[in-house]
Amino acid sequence: MTETPEPAKPSFRSDVTVELVKHAAGDSDVLFAARVSTAGEQSLEEVTKDPERSKGLINFLMRDRHGSPFEHNSMTFFISAPIFVFREFMRHRVGWSYNEESGRYRELEPVFYVPDASRKLVQQGRPGKYEFVEGTQAQQELTGRVMEDSYRQAYEAYQEMLAAGVAREVARAVLPVGLFSSMYATCNARSLMHFLGLRTQHELAKVPSFPQREIEMVGQQMEEHWARLMPLTHAAFNKNGRVAP
Ligand SMILES: Cc1cc2nc3c(=O)[nH]c(=O)nc-3n(C[C@H](O)[C@H](O)[C@H](O)COP(=O)(O)OP(=O)(O)OC[C@H]3O[C@@H](n4cnc5c(N)ncnc54)[C@H](O)[C@@H]3O)c2cc1C
Repeated sequence: MTETPEPAKPSFRSDVTVELVKHAAGDSDVLFAARVSTAGEQSLEEVTKDPERSKGLINFLMRDRHGSPFEHNSMTFFISAPIFVFREFMRHRVGWSYNEESGRYRELEPVFYVPDASRKLVQQGRPGKYEFVEGTQAQQELTGRVMEDSYRQAYEAYQEMLAAGVAREVARAVLPVGLFSSMYATCNARSLMHFLGLRTQHELAKVPSFPQREIEMVGQQMEEHWARLMPLTHAAFNKNGRVAP
């Protein structure tokens, strides 16, 4: 007789996963694309001959918002984050490709988001003009406890329906947006800059944005990967107020 495996126990996370799984992206791709306008076809080696001139050209393209040379590159990220982050993420339509795990074809893993003590819990002010401040210890404890209880209850309800033969695509309706999902997201430097301009807060930003902290955590990790691949482009982005060209 085969034994039915025990349903997985809920686990709780306060962080997100961002891995750069594939890339074809370098500053030379920007220069190569840009120089075709004046010099016609050139080799990729040629663009590294004069680093100062290359830096200057990238800065000029960024400053004057000549955006298309920043599109000739590609980065694919594996991202694991709560569903509420993905809802915001997938609003970014242009220059992005997505593939997400299915709740129809597989049983969803019970991994849920619970903020840690570094996550400011209390909103003050009015929409469009508010700030977040630390919560009290009591608020932090309440948030952790209520979220975990609620997640456990929701996952039990999901399991109960699956055990009774209800389809995964129906049973998943009881799962909350704090459930972790995973996806591959592919972008180029231009679409990533547009994303970062909206989804990160930064002292150099000419146009401040007020993103939800959890999508910013994803954005910050993507930015670290991108900055290593395209340091000149990243520096020019910062120098020009973090506005996508
Ligand atoms: C802080 C913050 C709060 C937000 N709050 C809300 C909210 O309360 N409710 C809500 O629904 N959304 C909200 N959003 C999502 C926001 O409205 C955008 O959908 C999201 O930021 C994606 O931006 P985007 O459309 O510029 O990006 P993309 O879809 O990647 O588009 C990139 C650019 O392409 C051009 N473009 C794309 N599609 C079109 C089109 N159809 N017509 C003309 N030009 C186009 C635009 O120039 C656009 O900026 C919020 C976003 C942020 C950053």
